[in-house]
Amino acid sequence: MKIIVTGGAGFIGSAVIRNILQHTKDQVLNYDCLTYAGNLESIPDSLTERVDTDTLAPRYQFIKGDICDAELFTALLNQYQPDAIMHLAAESHVDRSIDGPALFIKTNVVGTCNLLECARKYWLTMPAQKKSSFRFLHVSTDEVFGDLQSDQLKFTEQTPYAPSSPYSASKAGSDHLVRAWGRTYGFPVLITNCSNNYGPYHFPEKLIPHIILSALQGKPLPVYGDGKQVRDWLYVDDHAQALLKVVKEGEVGETYTIGGNNEKQNIEVVKTICGILNQKINDKPDGIEDFSNLITYVQDRPGHDKRYAIDASKIANSLHWQPTESFESGIEKTVQWYLDNPDWWQNVLTGKYQLTRLGDTQYH
Ligand code: NAD
Repeated sequence: MKIIVTGGAGFIGSAVIRNILQHTKDQVLNYDCLTYAGNLESIPDSLTERVDTDTLAPRYQFIKGDICDAELFTALLNQYQPDAIMHLAAESHVDRSIDGPALFIKTNVVGTCNLLECARKYWLTMPAQKKSSFRFLHVSTDEVFGDLQSDQLKFTEQTPYAPSSPYSASKAGSDHLVRAWGRTYGFPVLITNCSNNYGPYHFPEKLIPHIILSALQGKPLPVYGDGKQVRDWLYVDDHAQALLKVVKEGEVGETYTIGGNNEKQNIEVVKTICGILNQKINDKPDGIEDFSNLITYVQDRPGHDKRYAIDASKIANSLHWQPTESFESGIEKTVQWYLDNPDWWQNVLTGKYQLTRLGDTQYH
C-alpha cells in the first residue's frame, strides 16, 4: 500500500510513520509544512532509509508542503498515486487556539476542505479497482464532544458535537466537512475521534512532556485550576496501531471513537510523573528532595473542559483493536524515553530542531 500521511512530522503523525515503517511493508509519504510542531528528528534515519525489498524503492519520502496548497498537493497525488490518505496535519494546541484562533480555522477547516477537494478529484480519475479500495482517514479528537457532565457517561460515535474551545470547534468543523464529502460525493471517508495521547517525541508544550522536562530542570510544575480535570490517556503507539487498522479494515463512512480506558485527573498524572522521577533520579536538581514539591497551581484555562472519557467498544468489537499499554506501563516508558533521549528534547528546547528542514522536494 502507498499511504500519504499529512502532519507526519508531528507527535502522532510521526508515530504512525514509525509504525508503518517498523510493522508493515507499506510505503509512506510524509506531507508536512513543518510548523513549530513539526520535527523531522522524530523519525529516525534507521527507519527513513528503509527500502522495499522487491523493488528497492524508498519506503519513506518527505515533501514539505502546506495542506492549503491545492496545486502542490494535486501534483503530489498524481505523481505518487497513493492508495490512502491519513490526514493528521492540524494546529493542535488548545492554549494557542485561545490566543490566536484564525490560524486554527485556516489550517484545520480550510486546509481539510482543500485536501478533500484535491483528493476527491484524484479519486475520480483512479482506475476502477484502485478507486474502490481508496480511503481518506480524517484523524480527529474527542474534544469535539465538549465535556461530560456525569461520571457515568462516556463519549461514543453517537455523542452530539458540543466543542468548547476554538481548537475543538475547528476540529468539529473539519469532521463535518469530511462527513459531508462522504455523503454528498460518495467519497470514501473514515473519521476517528481519539482521547488524549502521550508518549515519546511529544512536543514539550503539552502537559506530560512539559511536566517531565520542567521537573528535570528544577522548574515549577504548573497545574491548571484545581487539577481535577479528567482525561482518558492513550499511549501514542496504541493510537497509531488503531489508525492503521481503521484505514486498512474500517468500514467506509464510519466513525470510530478511540481511547485508552485510562481516566486520570491531571493532578494524578503530575504526581505519578513526580513519583517515577523521584525513583529514577538520584542526583536531583539543587535542593529538591521530592519533585512534587515543585507543583504550582495556576489560573485555569478559560472554558476548560472538566472530563473526557471514551467508550471504544465499537473499534474493539468490529476491528479487534485494544490498547496494549496500561497508563502505569506507558507513563513509565514515556518518562524513561525522555531520560534516554536528551538530544531530541534539548534540540526542541533550544530551537535547533527547526534547522532540520530537509527535503524541500517539489512536485510540479
Ligand atoms: P502536532 O501539533 O504534534 O502535529 C501537527 C503536525 O501538522 C505538525 O508536524 C505540523 O508541522 C503539521 N502541520 C500543521 N499545519 C500544517 C499545514 N497547514 N500543512 C501541513 N502540515 C501542517 O499534532 P498531534 O498531536 O500529532 O495531532 C495530530 C492530529 O491528531 C491532529 O489532527 C489532532 O487534532 C489529532 N488528535 C490529537 C490528539 C492528541 O492528544 N495530541 C488526540 C486526538 C486527536
